[in-house]
Amino acid sequence: MKILWFLILILLFACSSDNERGIKMTMRALAANDTPLTHPEPGEWLYEHKEKGQTYKEYIQSSPSSPFLQRKVIYLQPVGGFSPIQRDVIHYTAEYLQTFFGLEVHISPTLDNTVVPDSAKRTGRDGNEQFLASYILSNQLMTRIPDDAIVYMALTEKDLYPKPSWNFVFGLASYKSRVGVTSIYRFSDYQLDSNNYNRCLERLIKISSHEIGHMFSMKHCTHALCTMNGTNSVTETDGKPNRLCSECTGKLIWNLKIDPASRLKQLREFFIRHKLEDDLDKINADIELLTAKKLFKE
Ligand SMILES: [Zn+2]
Ligand SMILES: [Zn+2]
Repeated sequence: MKILWFLILILLFACSSDNERGIKMTMRALAANDTPLTHPEPGEWLYEHKEKGQTYKEYIQSSPSSPFLQRKVIYLQPVGGFSPIQRDVIHYTAEYLQTFFGLEVHISPTLDNTVVPDSAKRTGRDGNEQFLASYILSNQLMTRIPDDAIVYMALTEKDLYPKPSWNFVFGLASYKSRVGVTSIYRFSDYQLDSNNYNRCLERLIKISSHEIGHMFSMKHCTHALCTMNGTNSVTETDGKPNRLCSECTGKLIWNLKIDPASRLKQLREFFIRHKLEDDLDKINADIELLTAKKLFKE
């Protein structure tokens, strides 16, 4: 019996070191497409916030939040009144997140804006109504989180603010409690129609995957241009790609046990279908690198 356990342990160790080798090979191959960050300018995230980033090794050693048997679904929780075109954006964001994280994504029944009381609202600088992001996390999501949720993220129609001194925030996530909130308000330049639909989708999938990345314990990336870079404005967000750098890709595929080749294939299909040309170019460039190293087959 002891010998049997010993053999099982050797087998498990061999599988995990093979897996680790595969992740390292993928990271090394993708590194050739990493674009270094430029020196931060006043107003940009890294100018205002001195962050150190987080290496692949530091991430693994941090015992990150991981899905497991009974808790492995990402839930999106719409809050507010959404137009049919906004509902489409939310539907396709759910589809993208399913591919990005390799996990099932459900959209919960919409909650009315009245779930946020007057004490957690204010009028912003543009005269728009804003919700206090931390109220949504603590008083709504944490009391409603489904049993099988690894992530429960609200998508609000209204703008958000994190504390009185801040003008606004795109989103807020808790590293420990598996809840987060993202606002759709600023992604369509205040009026969503068929002309700016693609831009709104491109921004919402970027911010949603960034916030959920935090919920899987990923810190802001300072390694290269990456979806996990911190941003201070819509302009700065627009300058970041819908692509994880090699380090952050390593963290994701290690934690969520994703096959990087089939992930890239599905992301490519999504970007083609939604005509997101810049994102498609980056995914194709990554596929080329993995193909050259025999890590990708059509
Ligand atoms: Zn962030
Ligand atoms: Zn990164």
